[in-house]
Amino acid sequence: MNGRALPRRHIALGSFCLCCLPWSARQASAGALFPAYVTEVASGIYIRQGVTEDATPGNSDSIANIGFIVGRDAVAVIDPGGSLEDGQSLFLAIRQVTRLPIRYVVMTHVHPDHVFGAAAFQAEKPTFIGHANLPQALGIRGEYYRDSLERILGSGRAGPIVMPSVLVRDQAEIDLGGRTLVLTAHSTAHTNCDLSVVDRMTGVLLAGDLLFVNRVPSLDGDLRGWLAQLAILNALNVRSAVPGHGPALVDWADAAGSLNRYLTALLNAKQSNTASRSRTRRRLLACLNAAGGNCSMITTAVTSSNLTGLSSGSDTLGGNGKY
Ligand SMILES: [Zn+2]
Ligand SMILES: [Zn+2]
Repeated sequence: MNGRALPRRHIALGSFCLCCLPWSARQASAGALFPAYVTEVASGIYIRQGVTEDATPGNSDSIANIGFIVGRDAVAVIDPGGSLEDGQSLFLAIRQVTRLPIRYVVMTHVHPDHVFGAAAFQAEKPTFIGHANLPQALGIRGEYYRDSLERILGSGRAGPIVMPSVLVRDQAEIDLGGRTLVLTAHSTAHTNCDLSVVDRMTGVLLAGDLLFVNRVPSLDGDLRGWLAQLAILNALNVRSAVPGHGPALVDWADAAGSLNRYLTALLNAKQSNTASRSRTRRRLLACLNAAGGNCSMITTAVTSSNLTGLSSGSDTLGGNGKY
């Protein structure tokens, strides 16, 4: 295994040489950690689909879609995972595919389910990349997130906070060797530090939490801003995308259209009066159900979360621990 991706579409358990792994992965292996199950959704793009659950000790906060892209010379991780263990299992999955250096770890935004696995890659000495606002967001919330995650997962399981070493203000490109990734720093949308990735080779968009599918979108930024950023992403003419939550790969137009309708309904609800709120709730549910969501979960969330936010007139609906 020296440098080339194995021709396997699905990578599950398999043998690997422990002595070749960095300390963090060896320690994880000693604790019976297994490689993440990843799917090659497009040539050289491997995604571990997150579970549709909240973080629990059993799932190690592996609730977001995370993955990696393999170029000729190097690998880029696009979101390192929701905990140290989650990141370690992604590391093991990468090493089942390739021995190429992991040169970049892209962190799409501040939420813990996307970034707390970063420490699992530190031994590889990658460049950690984030939105220009990410250091401040992690500075303000990081310890709170880490404490909250440790209370859920158990002491020592969240992992340390890793700050990005390279920041993107507008747009940047990274080269994996014959394969260029375009990183775009967005204005406030899902959060104030959303970073998306487009793989030029395949045209696949890795949207982070700018795209939710089959899960209630949490809003921790700005509703109008999110709609505006969806329009900007639409202009890229990508055909398929990896959402932050949902299937590992979706048709971009369909998924973005559903999210757009949901966010627009939410915006209209914010602007409507109290008497029309129940009608709005029915529209939101119809909108989500049409998108194929989990009805019982969505019903609960829309009732207790989003409409609570609406009634307070707040755009910040992400404070309920769901990201
Ligand atoms: Zn998320
Ligand atoms: Zn998020």
